[in-house]
Amino acid sequence: MSAPYLQLIDLQVRFGGLRAVDGLNLSLNFGELRCLLGPNGAGKSTTLDLICGKTRATGGKILLDGQDITHMKEYQRARAGVGRKFQTPTVFKELSVSENLEIARSQNPGVWAALKTFRTRRQGKIKEILDLVNLNDQFHTLAGNLSHGQTQWLEIAMLLVQDSKLILFDEPAAGMTIQETRRTAEIFNALKGSHTMIVVEHDMGFVREIAETVTVMDMGRLLSEGTIQEVESDPAVRRAYLGE
Ligand code: ADP
Ligand code: MG
Repeated sequence: MSAPYLQLIDLQVRFGGLRAVDGLNLSLNFGELRCLLGPNGAGKSTTLDLICGKTRATGGKILLDGQDITHMKEYQRARAGVGRKFQTPTVFKELSVSENLEIARSQNPGVWAALKTFRTRRQGKIKEILDLVNLNDQFHTLAGNLSHGQTQWLEIAMLLVQDSKLILFDEPAAGMTIQETRRTAEIFNALKGSHTMIVVEHDMGFVREIAETVTVMDMGRLLSEGTIQEVESDPAVRRAYLGE
């Protein structure tokens, strides 16, 4: 069996006296999509912050493809392939879709260096990404004129252009229409196998469409892990959510 692509080992962070993440262990294989569930304040967003480097761990380890990234800076992790999609999109509204992608590309020049002199191959790669996120006919549209769903997809395209291999999503379906949610599930399913993803999500309908295995956190710790059915019938999960 190959080693996991991402490993969190006894990961911890304290904010003053609060142990927001308190000895978390988590393993993902390359190409896997894992949903991260748990009640409000469980430590899900903080876990994503720790992986991308926005917040530094006060204990434990993060291994990415066997490399210890625990103490790397955020931009170094981005170059190592970690991409974080925040709840609020960070696209440039006054620029077009293509200009936004151009900016994303300039963030990780190494990836595209080999294609520098091959304009058609470069354009082919961009087109492939835009097809995947359903924005192929929006190349010249100002990002500020995109719908909420399209804006989220542009941000995914920007991460793909930057060659992120591990993509962290915090409640991606929030605020989306039913159609947008469905399309987003299709995008995630298409990315499986070539990208490793952690998706924090509350919408269980959406979770069912994208994930086979889920991890449930509570109070900074791992509460339960397994198939959706296994986790839903776990008494510990019922207690955490319903206070049973
Ligand atoms: P979730 O995403 O699961 O709802 P969070 O990871 O956002 O939970 O928060 C976990 C706990 O850590 C909460 O009690 C929250 O108030 C606290 N917390 C998160 N970020 C900070 C911070 N920067 N400073 C202090 N406390 C924080
Ligand atoms: Mg959160």
